[in-house]
Amino acid sequence: MFQVRPKKARPQSVALFGGTFDPIHLGHTRPLSELADQFGWSHVHLQPCFAPPHRPAPAVSDTHRMRMVELACEDDPRLVADDFELRQQQPTRTVHTLAHLQRQHPQASLCFIMGMDSFINFTQWLNWQGILELAHVIVLPRPGYQLEQVPEELQQRLTQQGAPNLAQFSHGSGLIHLADTQHQAISATQLRQQLAARNIDTPCPELLAPKVYTYIQRHGLYQAKV
Ligand code: ATP
Repeated sequence: MFQVRPKKARPQSVALFGGTFDPIHLGHTRPLSELADQFGWSHVHLQPCFAPPHRPAPAVSDTHRMRMVELACEDDPRLVADDFELRQQQPTRTVHTLAHLQRQHPQASLCFIMGMDSFINFTQWLNWQGILELAHVIVLPRPGYQLEQVPEELQQRLTQQGAPNLAQFSHGSGLIHLADTQHQAISATQLRQQLAARNIDTPCPELLAPKVYTYIQRHGLYQAKV
């Protein structure tokens, strides 16, 4: 007699959120949990990038950034800390990372998430059209960045696509969703400055996950060099 093994459920959609995460904060993770609720996602990959080509080097090591992402992901089982880009040991472009995810999850539709500050520069990304061939794009609102700042090409694309419903994002690719998640007035740059100035010397559950805050304190990260 052979046994029928229950099939492992395949994720319908796999979402990807990349960033420097220097450090990861609640402005990153809270909207992801909201999106996972709205779209019914079970897998949202958070990938710290090796060293973004357009920015100065991160303030702390890759190991620290990755560990903080792992700790932040412990608060929501749908969030997956993914070290793919760091393992490459070289900057990886989003279009290549998505192609890799597609090979890993050939049946799933891919959703790539970014903040509005990134979306207004999206047409300058390497092969941004290729990104939209591989994935849907989900844009998080970010205080200080408006849809009016988005280049004409993307505005036209938004007009042409109309108002897709959320179910359309669980197959295919190429749609853009302007998320209605809560605005998060949190910035990693500001957090680093506040930590260096020791303005944040008690847990701040409105900015950082408590485990991430404890990790930062334990390792003395982001403190001004004396
Ligand atoms: P800084 O605040 O210094 O600009 P950052 O937090 O934007 O840093 P990253 O860690 O690289 O830098 O951001 C990763 C992704 O998170 C990007 O797509 C960015 O647009 C988005 N993001 C970051 N902070 C917010 C926020 N408060 N609200 C919405 N999206 C955000």
